Amino acid sequence: METTLQPELHQHLQDAKARIDAATAAEELRAVERDYIDKGGVVAGLLAAITTLPPEQRRDAGQGANILKGAVLKALGDRKAELEAMAIDAARSGHGFDPSLPGTSIRRGSLHPVTRVTRELEDIFSSMGYDILDGPEVEIDVYNFERLNIPGDHPARDMHDTFWCEVNGAERDSNMGLLLRTHTSCVQVRTMERLQPPFRVVVPGRVFRQETVDASHEHTFHQMEGLVVGEGLTVGHLIGTMKTFLREVFQKEIEVRLRPGYFPFVEPGFELDARCPFCATPGAGCRVCKQTGWVELCPCGMVHPAVLQMSGIDTEKYTGFAFGLGLSRLVMLRYEIDDIRHLMGGDTRFLSQF
Ligand SMILES: [Zn+2]
Repeated sequence: METTLQPELHQHLQDAKARIDAATAAEELRAVERDYIDKGGVVAGLLAAITTLPPEQRRDAGQGANILKGAVLKALGDRKAELEAMAIDAARSGHGFDPSLPGTSIRRGSLHPVTRVTRELEDIFSSMGYDILDGPEVEIDVYNFERLNIPGDHPARDMHDTFWCEVNGAERDSNMGLLLRTHTSCVQVRTMERLQPPFRVVVPGRVFRQETVDASHEHTFHQMEGLVVGEGLTVGHLIGTMKTFLREVFQKEIEVRLRPGYFPFVEPGFELDARCPFCATPGAGCRVCKQTGWVELCPCGMVHPAVLQMSGIDTEKYTGFAFGLGLSRLVMLRYEIDDIRHLMGGDTRFLSQF
């Protein structure tokens, strides 16, 4: 393109290039840009002078000025990139460091939605005086079933599609019935063994079921178990606790209802539903609650006396209540996620939204 420039413009370009090539700092390049490109610079002067030229020369003169402008800008850009690359090389090899250069950006991760909700619930329960406990994911039959009032022949076992562990080719009987825990309720037993009442604990954790995976079933999901044992506890305390908890989660008063539910380790047992917090008008129904106005929240109930006794707790003196929050379900409700498979799928396109 230079070859088409008139001699005067060609000289301008040569001068500019000489300065650009000699430049060793961004400030020198900025000075060239000021002299040639900015308002009042060489290019602007050339364009202004066009009006004084005879009409037949104006077109070429205009084109020439624009070619000069483009060529100077390109040379400035090239040299700037060169200087940056040199600075990075120098920094890498330890010969100086230019703090004015942009740093290498680091991609930041974020917390998994399950972790977020778990931590939030832990904070809420901590503020209500609960201890946060943990338990093993590989459990033995005794803790997962037997001492929760679910003996070997109990039909409730069929509802838990259990992953049994094989140890050295031997199954169940010879390895104490090693299994992947099917609920967090087994930590209830471990807690009663360790702690003297009164106590209140919650236990968040992963549980496993041999489920056929679909939008609402996963083989691995999350629960949060709650157990409170003390003197004089009643169903009223259970309901009060759940209402307090819901008020904290949704920051408003949430109506609850109890339906009878059967779980061998509680008596009486309930299914606790909450007024859907997402309906525009409470109870009106929406997509989240499938138009019913209620969302199933958790199975709960008063701890069965047999369960307390098996763990050595004096049932003359103490009663207790327990609840099993579906943590995965709460996460889905909170973020309106309609497919449980997203939670454990590990797809970063999903996870990076949190
Ligand atoms: Zn609703």
